[in-house]
Amino acid sequence: MNLSEIDIHAALKKYFGFSQFKGLQEGVVKNILEGRNTFVIMPTGGGKSLCYQLPALMQDGTAIIVSPLIALMKNQVDAIRGVSAEMGIAHVLNSSLNKTEIKQVKKDIKDGITKLLYVAPESLTKDENVEFLRSIKLSFVAVDEAHCISEWGHDFRPEYRNLKAIVTRLGEGIPIIGLTATATPKVQEDIIKNLGIGDATVFKASFNRPNLFYEVRTKTENIDADIIRFIKQNEGKSGIVYCLSRKKVEELAQVLQVNGISAVPYHAGFDAKTRSKYQDMFLMEDVNVVVATIAFGMGIDKPDVRYVIHHDIPKSIESYYQETGRAGRDGGEGHCLAFYSYKDIEKLEKFMAGKPVAEQEIGNALLQEVVAYAETSMSRRKFMLHYFGEEFDEINGEGADMDDNTRNPKEKVEAMEDAVKL
Ligand code: ADP
Ligand code: MG
Repeated sequence: MNLSEIDIHAALKKYFGFSQFKGLQEGVVKNILEGRNTFVIMPTGGGKSLCYQLPALMQDGTAIIVSPLIALMKNQVDAIRGVSAEMGIAHVLNSSLNKTEIKQVKKDIKDGITKLLYVAPESLTKDENVEFLRSIKLSFVAVDEAHCISEWGHDFRPEYRNLKAIVTRLGEGIPIIGLTATATPKVQEDIIKNLGIGDATVFKASFNRPNLFYEVRTKTENIDADIIRFIKQNEGKSGIVYCLSRKKVEELAQVLQVNGISAVPYHAGFDAKTRSKYQDMFLMEDVNVVVATIAFGMGIDKPDVRYVIHHDIPKSIESYYQETGRAGRDGGEGHCLAFYSYKDIEKLEKFMAGKPVAEQEIGNALLQEVVAYAETSMSRRKFMLHYFGEEFDEINGEGADMDDNTRNPKEKVEAMEDAVKL
């Protein structure tokens, strides 16, 4: 072991209290410390934050972390402050700060105290910020949730498109680190192109989640009863039920409550106080189930979610992977059950009808993959991983028998469905 490896491990222990790196982290950290452009593709929960936090803490200067959500930034800043005696070690720079706060942030940066500065892309475009950031020593720029750059991703944000130009304005040769949990080859190409990091060292972790069981069931008019039955069979366990619309969220939460299931609704139509109340009730296990739109989940880290049910099929495989990924974070069981009906696909198509043609084309292509996933008779895990550009051995791979198609090959299921129809 050379000196730098000792240093890196000591820093890992000192700042985070961990004695070991997770997955590909160590290689990423070294690569960043060597000043190279870096591209990190790791599933949610893989430990991407540490990949840039540790080198930022170990280096001179300030690292800029571009992140799309204020809530996520705040969490991260609090977490970093928790590892250091110095409050100013991490800051957020955004429009929510008043003048005095901005002054303090800038002072801490100038004094060399601030190692991580979290910014939203729209704050980075502001001339006054660019001017200030040009005047200080920057270690690197990390673009978290880098899939926001791509129209092929699940969360396209146009502000992410200008990042390369801005970084260039900030100074010459500043290393760029892109990080994402979206593994589709198309999104990756977009990120590399947009950030101008064709020369980046790429670190891609496996997206296989061997402890998750994948199942798709035909959606019928009895779906509520099916969901109730499933939840009752999993009495006492935590679960998430995703619905497409706010209206359905509220209806279904009520239906569950009436049926003796402790459930709360969650969607972006509730005010912040109500949302955080319901979220806390779920996290603290005052209730077992949260019925939610996709507004629920970003940045929420409940390790023992035992099932994720999709009342409505999502609009892409990535979305499905992300949403089901919230199950079984602790490595324990996680049942992912999606209800599928072609009618829902047509609904999703209709939603897109008013959008620009290019967006529609992308949306439809993504939807067709969802249809193929729902209707496939092959290993769902193999299908999903293939979609992410990853080969999976459906005989010996980890979690090989953890899906409905593998456990009950198609003939049987079809026979059962036919019986139901009769
Ligand atoms: P991501 O951004 O990839 O979704 P996070 O950075 O939020 O993942 O990390 C997920 C969890 O893993 C966090 O709770 C974090 O503390 C934990 N973690 C990260 N690195 C390590 C490590 N080396 N050892 C143990 N836990 C780790
Ligand atoms: Mg993250």
